[in-house]
Amino acid sequence: MSTNTGESGVLALDVPAPGPDPVLERAFRRAMDGLYMVFQPIVSWTEREIVAYEALVRTCEPELARPDLLFSAAERLDMIIPMGRRIRRGVAQLVSTAPERVSLFVNVHGGELADPDLYDPASPLSRVAHRIVLEITERWSLDRFHDIGERIRALRDLGFRVAVDDLGAGYAGLTSFARLRPEVVKLDMSLIRGVNEDPTRQHLIRSLNGACRDLGIRVVAEGVETKEERDTLVALGSNLLQGYLFSKPARAFPVVETAVWDAEYTHVKGWPARTAQAELLELRDALNALLGTLNTDGATRYDPTATATEVGALGRRALRSVEALLATNNLPSLEPGALSLPAPKLAKTA
Ligand code: C2E
Ligand code: CA
Ligand code: CA
Repeated sequence: MSTNTGESGVLALDVPAPGPDPVLERAFRRAMDGLYMVFQPIVSWTEREIVAYEALVRTCEPELARPDLLFSAAERLDMIIPMGRRIRRGVAQLVSTAPERVSLFVNVHGGELADPDLYDPASPLSRVAHRIVLEITERWSLDRFHDIGERIRALRDLGFRVAVDDLGAGYAGLTSFARLRPEVVKLDMSLIRGVNEDPTRQHLIRSLNGACRDLGIRVVAEGVETKEERDTLVALGSNLLQGYLFSKPARAFPVVETAVWDAEYTHVKGWPARTAQAELLELRDALNALLGTLNTDGATRYDPTATATEVGALGRRALRSVEALLATNNLPSLEPGALSLPAPKLAKTA
């Protein structure tokens, strides 16, 4: 197969454009009629809680049952935009039935970024934009849009948050950091698979977690299948996890089985699945982390804004744990100010 650069100077593959394909068209029409959404939990490990769901499309049409086949048919038939609209409407319809406070992650195919409906404040998904994180992948080149930055800004102005999907999948993922300034990145499952046995990927994930923390970007590790992968990821600083270990994608809205949170935890009032001992261990970890963050020796340098937020979050978590522990043991709750902490010494980063 030869290649050429046409008049536009764009490298073009020397392959004939596909002709009409009535069989595919009929299968695709059936697939569109049978579209529905499934959802997969994204959990916060420290909270032992579902914090979001990723919406994934499915169809009753067996010939295009796999999403990759469905999307390549849609691309071939120039139907990405109508299908994207149907998916977004389908998700929007289910938002009101989602558990309170969870966000919904919605995949956006690159071709959908050309659809004016995506930017319409009156469209069903825009109306619930504050609950939605749009996942954008560079598997589909964003270079086709010279104004990608403005498009993303328009989506943010509507209230959407943005995630870069498939980071580490071998595409130009790192450039999307600068271009999209995402609130969230999702590590591709090729980085996660067998991470417990691979020091190179462990280094990479630790560094990515650190870089994202400094940039204020949250990281989701996707495709977690085993407890060994989970424990390694947690040790590397990952907290948001998604994968078959927690739940396969299912009709709205699957729960995470108690046993998955950890076999040794048993049910305690007000908490998903813990014992007082687990509470104590978490309290200890939270306090250790808090004391580490307070930087009493002045040796570590922190970004003042990030640190203030971090200290606040850790402090609240520690206090919540103390309160829960007291309540579980039928003890009176804390007096205001009972747990007084030294003021953090914050040094500006150079
Ligand atoms: P993705 O966005 O990277 O979605 C994650 C895929 O990994 C899903 O496959 C999910 O079922 C699968 N998965 C989740 N946890 C695990 C795990 O622990 N192990 C393994 N082996 N797989 C896991 P799915 O649903 O088949 O989707 C494949 C791809 O199709 C998606 O990859 C996404 O690129 C595309 N897609 C699916 N639904 C939509 C949609 O509604 N809109 C758009 N634009 N693309 C979609
Ligand atoms: Ca995705
Ligand atoms: Ca992904």
